[in-house]
Amino acid sequence: MRKNTKQIYVGDVPVGGTSPITVQSMTNTITRDIESTVNQIISLEQCGCDIIRSAINNIDDAKAIPIIKEQIHIPIIGDIQFDYRLAIEAVKNGVDCLRINPGNIGNKDRVKEVVNCCKEYDVPIRVGVNSGSISQKFIDKYGGVNSDSLVYSCLEQVEFLESLGFYDMKLALKSSDVNMTIESYKKISELTNYPLHVGITEAGPKSTGIIKSAVGIGSLLSQGIGDTIRVSLTAPPEEEVIVGKEILKSLKLKTEGVNIVSCPTCARTNIDLIKIVEEAEERLKTVDKNITVAIMGCVVNGPGEAREADIGITGGNGEGLIFKKGKIVKKVSEEFLLDELMNEIEKM
Ligand code: SF4
Repeated sequence: MRKNTKQIYVGDVPVGGTSPITVQSMTNTITRDIESTVNQIISLEQCGCDIIRSAINNIDDAKAIPIIKEQIHIPIIGDIQFDYRLAIEAVKNGVDCLRINPGNIGNKDRVKEVVNCCKEYDVPIRVGVNSGSISQKFIDKYGGVNSDSLVYSCLEQVEFLESLGFYDMKLALKSSDVNMTIESYKKISELTNYPLHVGITEAGPKSTGIIKSAVGIGSLLSQGIGDTIRVSLTAPPEEEVIVGKEILKSLKLKTEGVNIVSCPTCARTNIDLIKIVEEAEERLKTVDKNITVAIMGCVVNGPGEAREADIGITGGNGEGLIFKKGKIVKKVSEEFLLDELMNEIEKM
């Protein structure tokens, strides 16, 4: 069962509590290159991104925020490293949330200035600590970089923000080590009620990054931990959003959109199922229906195994069957099978 955390708002998107688990990504354009940044955010919105984060590296990035916001439809988080003045400028220029690691913003007076600005503009803060930025005193206390030093380093920052009367926070504890990430989030989930931003940082190239993210994020979500997720891949950010949504769908934490079920193929497969599935995946990306589509290699297990699917195809010898809810509705030759499936889906 999902933990009922405190709910905060990033722009108009709720995070935490009983609100849907959101998918985030981060732009890789130069933020002040407004046209490129807006184009990438729009593309990410079309993939289903709920919240976007952009790096604020200088004053021009901060000043680009209001112009970017006029052209996009999802909240934008300003990602700040080190410079508290940029954090303040980002808030004044309209970011919907600030991502900072208070530990690298500088002395407490600087953090206080940032927090006061967030209070004034009603902007939440994502406190982000990763394994590379753990306070040395906790590394010494807990014997190295581990889940305890990560958690208590984050909690120290949370307590400092709370001492300033600031509670509008979500927390992130990032490590590229999947086990450490899982342990850390489990611990902090027991120690605080703030919403958690879950992800495996620097997860790597697409193939291994997807696996690490699915295992790490997936196991936490399956234990009811996590309110917003970011899959971190060395790949175009659209891929992160697609993978993030699939993780949620696989745990039935998101039911919107097309869910594809397909068989692994075997000696009974007599059609080019792998090609059909690849093409179907591409064509179904733009279908805005909440349906499960099964694509099965043979009639032996096809409609039966995919009885739960709303619609599907099952291969025969150079031909296939289209079925709905386990009942065969049409026989079609292999070359028209996918087109016919798409026609039937359109009618649904
Ligand atoms: Fe093999 Fe048929 Fe099962 Fe596909 S559905 S794996 S072709 S038995």
